Amino acid sequence: MKTRELAEKYEAYVIEHRRDFHAHPELSWKEYRTSGIVRRELDQLGVPYVMVGETGIVASITGGRGAGRTVALRADMDALPVQELNDHLPYKSENDGCMHACGHDGHTASLLGAARILCDLREDFSGTVKLFFEPAEEVGGSIHRFIEAGHLEGLDGCFAIHLWAELEAGKISCEEGARMAGTDFFYGKVTGKGGHGALPHLAIDPVTAACSIVMNLQTAASREISPLEPFVLTIGRIAAGERFNVIAEEAFFDGCIRTFNPEIQGRCREIIERIASHTAAALRARFEWVDYFYGTPPVMNGKAAAALARAAVTALCGEAALGTLDRIMGGEDFGIFLQNVPNGLMAFVGAMNPAKGCNFSHHHGNFNIDEDALKTATALYAQYALDFLAKKGVLS
Ligand SMILES: [Zn+2]
Ligand SMILES: [Zn+2]
Repeated sequence: MKTRELAEKYEAYVIEHRRDFHAHPELSWKEYRTSGIVRRELDQLGVPYVMVGETGIVASITGGRGAGRTVALRADMDALPVQELNDHLPYKSENDGCMHACGHDGHTASLLGAARILCDLREDFSGTVKLFFEPAEEVGGSIHRFIEAGHLEGLDGCFAIHLWAELEAGKISCEEGARMAGTDFFYGKVTGKGGHGALPHLAIDPVTAACSIVMNLQTAASREISPLEPFVLTIGRIAAGERFNVIAEEAFFDGCIRTFNPEIQGRCREIIERIASHTAAALRARFEWVDYFYGTPPVMNGKAAAALARAAVTALCGEAALGTLDRIMGGEDFGIFLQNVPNGLMAFVGAMNPAKGCNFSHHHGNFNIDEDALKTATALYAQYALDFLAKKGVLS
């Protein structure tokens, strides 16, 4: 098993880069330093690449055995506006209010390690591995730029890894079907007519209307969507008014939906608009959209891709490493990748280890990963690509 041995050889390299990215996190769309380091490392390996926007990168490693399939490996590079609380770490974030609290530092470093392995094994495979270093995953925007630039065309398959804090280190989940939720988000406005708080009959109160809308929207989950379908509708922000005795002119609410069913996701805008506009009208107010964003579809892992990934995990780490994970209500823009490429999968590599203090949730200021997971992620990126290119498993 050359891949595992090479992943061990490059383990220190991957950890060093992960710690460097961790100490110097950059927010979505601002991954300049990170992207520069990735390019420097690719240059050293002699791997060609093209830029997508200011920080996105698509690199290509072509095997020495001639033409064949093309498979994409994806890592995201951005950090979050979270204050790191891990004072004990020598590589704690040096950027106040910015932190790699989702593990993307580990994804980028592991994919650089996999690039080294694939270059070492270049003469052993046919076809092409494309390495996608993606900006701005946390705000769900950059994949569209890769699509517009044509980088998803001609791909026979795609594979991503997410280091996962709710899965113990040593376990890997590569299950088929819906793994992460689809999500849309929206901004609504309710218009009334301002006035004196003592004279509501001469005004139209948008606050009462907005509050009623928020409550009525919950009937979408309880009365309209099948109870057999997990569904969340959250209004995360509601804003109106300036003073206790003044009826406001307008009210605003922002929210999001989550579902594993693309058909339900497709109906949400209409459902919300119908409930909001009729509720507002019943109270003499008026509803309108400020904006509605069709976010990301569910992450749907392919059946054949899951079988291939399970075989790769078994070969690398043994069958006992195959773990199971509940579906995740959070979203991932890799869902869009999977929508555009026929065979794909996101694997979750366990990074939880309470003995090492790695037991905080993603996006928490104390989040950290068990770095032993990096070697596994590095090996799995490379092994999945090699097995896919060797046409182990059918395309579906
Ligand atoms: Zn995240
Ligand atoms: Zn993430």
